[in-house]
Amino acid sequence: MSDRAITPTERVSNWLSTFGAALETGNIQAAVAQFQDDCYWRDLVTFTWNIKTVEGKTAVAEMLDMQLDHVKPTNWRIDGEANEAAGVTDAWITFETGAARGNGHIRMKGDQCWTLLTAITELKGFEEPRGPTRPKGVAHGAFAERKNWLERRQQEEAELGYSKQPYVVIIGGGQGGIGLGARLKRLGIPTIIVEKNERPGDSWRKRYKSLCLHDPVWYDHLPYLPFPDHWPIFSPKDKIGDWLEMYTRVMELNYWTSSEARSARYNDISEEWEIVVDRAGEEVILRPKQLVLSTGMSGVPNMPNFPGMDTFKGEQFHSSKFPGGDAYAGKRAVVIGSNNSAHDICADLWEHGADVTMLQRSSTHIARSESLMDLALGGLYSEQALANGITTDKADMIFASIPYKIMHDSRSRCMKRWRSAMPSFTGNLKPPGSGLIGATTARACL
Ligand SMILES: Cc1cc2nc3c(=O)[nH]c(=O)nc-3n(C[C@H](O)[C@H](O)[C@H](O)COP(=O)(O)OP(=O)(O)OC[C@H]3O[C@@H](n4cnc5c(N)ncnc54)[C@H](O)[C@@H]3O)c2cc1C
Repeated sequence: MSDRAITPTERVSNWLSTFGAALETGNIQAAVAQFQDDCYWRDLVTFTWNIKTVEGKTAVAEMLDMQLDHVKPTNWRIDGEANEAAGVTDAWITFETGAARGNGHIRMKGDQCWTLLTAITELKGFEEPRGPTRPKGVAHGAFAERKNWLERRQQEEAELGYSKQPYVVIIGGGQGGIGLGARLKRLGIPTIIVEKNERPGDSWRKRYKSLCLHDPVWYDHLPYLPFPDHWPIFSPKDKIGDWLEMYTRVMELNYWTSSEARSARYNDISEEWEIVVDRAGEEVILRPKQLVLSTGMSGVPNMPNFPGMDTFKGEQFHSSKFPGGDAYAGKRAVVIGSNNSAHDICADLWEHGADVTMLQRSSTHIARSESLMDLALGGLYSEQALANGITTDKADMIFASIPYKIMHDSRSRCMKRWRSAMPSFTGNLKPPGSGLIGATTARACL
């Protein structure tokens, strides 16, 4: 036998083969023995039909005990070559279950698994048509009463929600609802997106004038249609609004504008939802099997109540109603709060000649955008990351593969690097009284 050292790729392949054999023979003990004591398995739908992280060997065993018989995993393979750095071997993997195909990621310490990610890519029998299975788009020949694409599209729009019920209703047509709507459309699942705004993208258009996305373009792609490669790194809000609107049309989404969902209740007898929608003044009741709430988490203004508000003579409004700094030239303004919107709004007011004061109640995460890009996001979401083969899909998966319990380690390392790289910046923030806390908003400092 050769005594050459085992390569990282061989280490992972051996692990997968032992692990896969243990699962296929239902030997949970042998499967669990492949993990180190301090281990994590994050599952996105394949094993648990849920988004779930199990921590430690006992929890791995319990999850397998409950799920292995139904899931029937097979065909564990390494995808590409494994890497090794700082004592950790990591690799992309693929596998199958009875119902689905999946991919994932593994990190090993020695010959045992430290973190495992398993994620669904598609359900067997419900693959999205694409590439060789794309639709033809035309039926060559002569057919009486043929309808062209536009007529078929108009018919679908006229019928769905009235003479035909959608299978899914998504309430909220921001990028979350739009992205999911596109996936369902590709699967051929009749879906309506209900949006109270007048146009797709309005949830961005209606925000303050100076707003540009704070996250870079590589982080922001929607499924199927990435931004073109000349798209700015930080999208202006109206530009992103137009992109979302274009996307709904190109992806042929059934997107009801000026439509507010007023109520929803599940009917146990008919086993469907009854959703009351005000569609531009007309009451429509939708009866889908599935309801998705995609109403966002930043959409509802939180207006505090301060003593004296009722007698204050000046204007008072929530940041979501800020019209832009040009309306306040020469005036005095106070911005209550010190996070992203507050900083954007203060800068906008200052640029337009207002005398502005920001009130900070408690410590704030502050980092320069350049530092975040350089030290935090850059490894995953940047041109350099792309050059290193880290596409947005891969970056998202790497990010998803890190259990929250160990994420703080990489964040602290990032913070230390940031502090030593920017001593004058953090120092300069202290004299004006800005409370800083010991972490950045870094989401992916690896
Ligand atoms: C100032 C600001 C800057 C931000 N910058 C970034 C950034 O740079 N990068 C980033 O990733 N995120 C950013 N965010 C967070 C951003 O809000 C979310 O990333 C994004 O909007 C989430 O999309 P969503 O579809 O979940 O929600 P939203 O975009 O909020 O969409 C929810 C939709 O639901 C609709 N809706 C709500 N209730 C109903 C109802 N009853 N009936 C019908 N429709 C309804 C709303 O009109 C809205 O269009 C920022 C947020 C703010 C406020």
